Amino acid sequence: MPELPVRDLLELDRRHVWHPYGPMPGRAEPLVVESASGVRLRMADGSGELVDGMSSWWSAIHGYNHPVLNEAVRDQLERMSHVMFGGLTHEPAVRLAKRLVDMSPDGLEHVFLADSGSVSVEVAVKMCLQYWRSLGRPAKQRLLTWRGGYHGDTWQPMSVCDPEGGMHELWSGVLPRQVFADAPPVAYEESYADHLRELIERHADDLAAVIVEPVVQGAGGMRFHSPAYLRVLREACDAHGVLLVFDEIATGFGRTGTLFAADQAGVTPDVMCVGKALTGGYMTMAATLCTSRVADGISRGEVPVLAHGPTFMGNPLASAVACASIDLLLGQDWATEVKRIETGLREGLSAAADLPGVRDVRVLGAIGVVQLDHEVDMAAATRAAVAEGVWLRPFRDLVYTMPPYITGDDDLARIGRGVCAAVGAG
Ligand SMILES: *Cc1c(COP(=O)(O)O)cnc(C)c1O
Repeated sequence: MPELPVRDLLELDRRHVWHPYGPMPGRAEPLVVESASGVRLRMADGSGELVDGMSSWWSAIHGYNHPVLNEAVRDQLERMSHVMFGGLTHEPAVRLAKRLVDMSPDGLEHVFLADSGSVSVEVAVKMCLQYWRSLGRPAKQRLLTWRGGYHGDTWQPMSVCDPEGGMHELWSGVLPRQVFADAPPVAYEESYADHLRELIERHADDLAAVIVEPVVQGAGGMRFHSPAYLRVLREACDAHGVLLVFDEIATGFGRTGTLFAADQAGVTPDVMCVGKALTGGYMTMAATLCTSRVADGISRGEVPVLAHGPTFMGNPLASAVACASIDLLLGQDWATEVKRIETGLREGLSAAADLPGVRDVRVLGAIGVVQLDHEVDMAAATRAAVAEGVWLRPFRDLVYTMPPYITGDDDLARIGRGVCAAVGAG
């Protein structure tokens, strides 16, 4: 048991600790986790264990307390937990960069190691703007994206989040004003492809880049779309001199059924962000990859360097566990596991389609989504899932799950029951 009684811990938490998207002092009481192992979170209040349906926000793909990942951290800890990356380098970071180059779409050759997903998106935007500045085109500084996206919570990423869900109202006049296309339809529609082409052509003189989440839009609404739109973007960007950025922070490392969602379209972006599952959920780390064209462009400029360098850039512990997580993933038949989870989610979530208030049920890879016709009652929905022994974090009109790839069939069925219970209660 933790030294602090749970009641005292919760009172201190409420008074002093900000939680994601939370007020201060806190209103909703969080659950206290004592430890986690496999797909289970053990609660500190003695209430037992919950099957994690969230992979700690897409990240813990191999589950918790994994012996191989633990060993990688322990082994690196004995050598060094951190050294600065300016003027120094080390094997874990170099090995990680090489792995990322090898596994990502062909043409992505250079890796910037960042400390969170949002920072990797900032770096991606900086790369694109600087590329055009270096080429003597400083007017090309706006971004185009489609509605319904989510790219993180720092300023540039916020400016390309969905303008309705992303608090744009609150920050109007402060955020850079970007160009928004309509949200992508699920299936391929030529009229929507034309809409994308038309916007890119019209704004080409101002646009540094198009930035999108490929195939699955995550926290902006959990919407799926045809990979064919990515080819439309690639062609239109090439035709009009605009860079293309894929934010694969949620979709990367197998989640949608391919290693990267870009693989479903056979498209290489100019810049690509990865994060979340990069370290198997062990440490905070993300990366921005780019092509040689982007790197060469920046290097030919008046300021021939990328002026970005987080203190904890390339952290050896995070790099070592990221390498171990990637090896663990690639060393197994991960595609079959993701397929198995897709099948399990389809079965488990099919019952939700008949529940009142359900607008849509959709599954892709190891992602299952139930969309309601109303705002979910988060507290009631969470309680109902917990009563089924499942941890879920519904938001807006969505009850959704992206379980660890190691989730067994019984636990998948349990997650299905948890989702349905949350839908029924929320
Ligand atoms: C989570 C997420 C981010 C932000 O990553 P953080 O590590 O939370 O800063 C950016 N883009 C996408 C697509 C994400 O899912």
